[in-house]
Amino acid sequence: MSSYDADVIILGAGLAGLVAAAEAADAGKRVIVLDQEPEASLGGQAFWSFGGLFLVDSPEQRRLGIKDSRELALQDWLGSAGFDRPEDAWPRKWAEAYVDFAAGEKRSWLYQQGMRWFPVVGWAERGGYLATGHGNSVPRFHVTWGTGPAVVEPFIRRVREAAARGRIDLRFRHRVTALTQTGGAIDGVRGEVLEASTVVRGASSSRTVTGDFALRAQAVVVTSGGIGGNHELVRRNWPPRMGPAPKRMLSGVPAHVDGQMLEVVYGSGGSVINPDRMWHYTEGIQNWDPIWPMHGIRILPGPSSLWLDALGRRLPAPLFPGFDTLGTLEHIMQTGYDYTWFVLTQKIIEKEFALSGSEQNPDLTGKDIRMVLGRALPGAPAPVEAFKQKGADFVVARTLPELVRGMNALTDEPLLDAAAVEREIVARDSQLTNPFGKDAQITAIRGARAYVGDKLIRVARPHAILDPKAGPLIAVRLNILTRKTLGGLHTDLSARVLNAEGQPLPGLYAAGEVAGFGGGGMHGYRALEGTFLGGCIFSGRTAGRAAAAAVA
Ligand SMILES: Cc1cc2nc3c(=O)[nH]c(=O)nc-3n(C[C@H](O)[C@H](O)[C@H](O)COP(=O)(O)OP(=O)(O)OC[C@H]3O[C@@H](n4cnc5c(N)ncnc54)[C@H](O)[C@@H]3O)c2cc1C
Repeated sequence: MSSYDADVIILGAGLAGLVAAAEAADAGKRVIVLDQEPEASLGGQAFWSFGGLFLVDSPEQRRLGIKDSRELALQDWLGSAGFDRPEDAWPRKWAEAYVDFAAGEKRSWLYQQGMRWFPVVGWAERGGYLATGHGNSVPRFHVTWGTGPAVVEPFIRRVREAAARGRIDLRFRHRVTALTQTGGAIDGVRGEVLEASTVVRGASSSRTVTGDFALRAQAVVVTSGGIGGNHELVRRNWPPRMGPAPKRMLSGVPAHVDGQMLEVVYGSGGSVINPDRMWHYTEGIQNWDPIWPMHGIRILPGPSSLWLDALGRRLPAPLFPGFDTLGTLEHIMQTGYDYTWFVLTQKIIEKEFALSGSEQNPDLTGKDIRMVLGRALPGAPAPVEAFKQKGADFVVARTLPELVRGMNALTDEPLLDAAAVEREIVARDSQLTNPFGKDAQITAIRGARAYVGDKLIRVARPHAILDPKAGPLIAVRLNILTRKTLGGLHTDLSARVLNAEGQPLPGLYAAGEVAGFGGGGMHGYRALEGTFLGGCIFSGRTAGRAAAAAVA
C-alpha cells in the first residue's frame, strides 16, 4: 500500500477528468491529477464550449410547450447512432444509460451543483429524414447560463476544495507517455515533466522536456480527450465512406487534443474501437483573432441560409443548415472540393448566426441579461458583426454580381458563374409567393417557426434573398472544422477499459472523449448535439466512482 503515490491517478484535467477526480476524492480517496498543459488551461475543451447540454423532458422544454420523453429521445438517439457492429454492444448500453441519465438525474444533479440554463431551448441537428432516422424530433439543446466556464466551474470548485483538504494533488506540465503494469494490472504511469509555460489558456505550450516522472496508484483513469487537434491522426482514421479526407481543415479544438494517449493505452493492451467515427463540422470559419493553431469557429446556423457547393449548386434536401452534420460532410467530400458557401441576407445573419464557443458569446458567458435581451433586437450580435467585417471568409455586397465577384476572389480558381447562382436563388425565392410550395427548405423554415423559441430568436421570417430590403447580401465560405472523436477506448458500464478479448484490463478506467464519451462510442455514427459535455460528466462520474470503489 505505502508504495503507492495515490489511490487513483487521473490523466487529463479536462471536464471528464475533473468530474472523475471530484467523485473519487469525495469518496475518500487520495487522487493525483496530471495534465500536460499549464494550470491556465485547466478544464480543457469544455471551458471553450458553448455549454449546450442535451436534456430530455426538462422544465425549460415544458415551459416552451415541447413534449419530450425518454422513449422519443432514445428513438432519436438510436436513429442517429445506427449501431451496426458487433463491438457496438457496450456503446449501445452506454447510449441507453446516458439517455436515462439525460431524462432523469442529470439536470437535478447539475442544478444542485449550481448550474442553470438559458430559458430558450435550441434545436440542433433537426434531421430532416423519417421519424426513425437521424436528428432531434424536438429542441433539446440547453445552453448553460455562463456557457462552458459555468459547466466546468462546479467541478473545478470541488477539485480545489478537495485539494485544500489534501485529497487531490494537481500536477500540471506532466505529460504521460506510458502506463506501468505489475502482474497484468495497471498500477501507474510514467512520463515527462515539461518546462514551465506562461501561455494563455488554450494556446499551444512548448513540449520541451526538463525531467521525467513515475507514479504508482491502484487505479488509473484516462481522460485525455480526442484527436481533433491532430490533423494527421484525423486523416489517418478518416472513413472511406465519407470520401477522401479534406486537404484543408480548420481546428475546432486546441492543440492539446492530440490523441497520443490512445496509442499509449493501445500499447498496454487496451482496445480502441470505432476510430473511424468522428464528428466534424461543415460550417467552419477562420477565426480572425485565433487562440490556437488553425483556429476555426463553428457557425451554429438557423435553417434559412442557401447552401451552395464550390460550383454554386444547391446542396440537396435535407442538407440544410443545422440538419445533418455528417450527411452534409459526406456530400461535400463527394463534390471534389472541401469548402461550400452560405448565401444569405442581413436579416438572416441577424437572427440565425450563432457562433459556438464561450468567447464568442460574451452575453451568455458573462451572464449579462441586458446584453442577452439585445439578441431579440435588430442588428447582429457584436461577435458575429466582427466576423462579418474582419473574417477572411465573409463577402458583403449590395448586388448579386458584386457578391459572386467577391466569392470568386476568395478561392484559388473562380468557379462560380453569377448567372447560375442567380438562377438557384430566383428559383428558391419563387417558392415564397404562396404560404405553401414544394421547396423542402422553405417548408422546413416554416415548420421551425411553429416552435416559439425558433420564431422568437432563431429563425428569420421567410423572405426573398434578392429582396433589397433584406440586404445587403452576404456570402460565407465554409470550411471543414475538426472537433469531436466519437470512437475511442472500449469500456464497460463501469468505465473499465477492455482488452482485445473484451475483458477488463485490471486497474485501468477511461472516460470522456478518449472513451468515445462512454463504451468506445456511445454516439455510434452520428450525434444529437449537446451530448459531449454531458457524456464527459456521465462517464467521468462513473469512472471516478468505480475507481474509488475498486481501490482498497
Ligand atoms: C469550441 C467548442 C465548443 C463546444 N461546444 C460544445 C457544446 O456546446 N456541447 C457539448 O456537449 N460539447 C461541446 N464541445 C465538446 C466538449 O467540450 C468536449 O468534447 C469535452 O469538453 C471533452 O472533454 P474531455 O475531458 O474528454 O477532454 P479535454 O477537454 O480534451 O481534456 C483532456 C485533457 O487531457 C490532457 N492530456 C492529453 N494527453 C495527455 C497526456 N499524455 N498527459 C497528460 N495530459 C494529457 C490535455 O492537456 C487536456 O487538458 C465543444 C468543444 C469546443 C472546443
